[in-house]
Amino acid sequence: MFDKEILRKFADLVLSIGVNLQKGQGLELACPVEKREVAEAFTEVAYSHGAKIVRIRWEDEVIDKINYSCADEQTLCEIPKWYVDSKNYLMEKNFCYVAIAADDPSIFKDIPSDKIAAVAKARSQALKKFSDCVMANGIRWCVVSVPTPSWAKQVFPDAKNAEELLAKAIIKTMRLDKDNPTLEWKKHIETLDKRAEFLNKHAFSYLKFKSKNGTDLLVGLADEHVWLSAKEKAKDGVSFVANMPTEEVFTAPHKDRVDGVLYSSMPLCENGQIIDDFKITFKKGKIVDFSAKKGYATLKNLIETDQGTRRLGEVALIGKNSPIAESKILFFNTLFDENASCHLAIGKAYPTNIKNGENLSKKELKDLGANDSIEHVDFMIGTNDLSVIGVKKNGEEIRLFNDGEWII
Ligand code: ZN
Ligand code: ZN
Repeated sequence: MFDKEILRKFADLVLSIGVNLQKGQGLELACPVEKREVAEAFTEVAYSHGAKIVRIRWEDEVIDKINYSCADEQTLCEIPKWYVDSKNYLMEKNFCYVAIAADDPSIFKDIPSDKIAAVAKARSQALKKFSDCVMANGIRWCVVSVPTPSWAKQVFPDAKNAEELLAKAIIKTMRLDKDNPTLEWKKHIETLDKRAEFLNKHAFSYLKFKSKNGTDLLVGLADEHVWLSAKEKAKDGVSFVANMPTEEVFTAPHKDRVDGVLYSSMPLCENGQIIDDFKITFKKGKIVDFSAKKGYATLKNLIETDQGTRRLGEVALIGKNSPIAESKILFFNTLFDENASCHLAIGKAYPTNIKNGENLSKKELKDLGANDSIEHVDFMIGTNDLSVIGVKKNGEEIRLFNDGEWII
């Protein structure tokens, strides 16, 4: 659990560095219902930052689970208009949006994965306008986490003080143990920016990933792709950080130029179900084969969601010595685990990863190789011996990673 002082520091950091709340702006916070004190801290601190209004969207996964068990699929797939409107309202009114990702990683393990996938798909389709806006930085948004008992239990199954241990780990990765977390974040952002700058300067045509576990993959990069890191700019010109913590530098792969095979290096929690030990084969960008030792049905449902979930929408580079990787904790939460390892995402590419992408049409983005889908799901492929080589259009090669770590 976060104590009062940490909670205020946390809210202050997320509102200043994360969504960069401006005076007179509205804030919405999506918060687990059992974490009322977090909502209270955000509300107070937001007003001290000059917020116009603070609205809380209470999330309750226990009720969700009962609904999944008892209601029929067709009814669950009816996404109410008021719900969609309430999300679209945020973009109409230029709210900042903070989401707390603290789910029990296997809460839906006993629900048929077809049912979960159907509801997730219906929701993603209904919210496409909102998620497109978020992915194109139409509003400033930030995903963060707070410890919850059910999540902590999964991360530290044998510990009596699991929630406390998880709180400590989050505090460390968020740099909340430092006297001035905001300053620490500014320094951290600079380091990541330098890497993105290096990659942009070289404008690689594709990346070669190779690892002893069998990963042997060529990832073509989209034409006019841009590498981004922690700090991004929203449509209104104000900068923000969309994920906290974050250690990644990422861009858009070319949807038709991915070839080879990859092996996952960490479990992936997708909609309250766990997929682990999986393998995916690509040909000309498309997934042509896949298998999983655990959660095969969940992976299959994800890949078969729409045309775009058969292709990649993100490639991200993270060294094995990132603070999150060094913690050696498996968080069962993508916000953290993706920052411990190089990763890829199935589904939509961020338009912001293409030069001037926010202002391009769907067709223009597609022609440059940016993938589109109703989904975007990150999964980890980085290992201790991973090598990554950047290849330029003229064939020149630059080694970026040796043994899982940056060498530039
Ligand atoms: Zn990522
Ligand atoms: Zn991603």
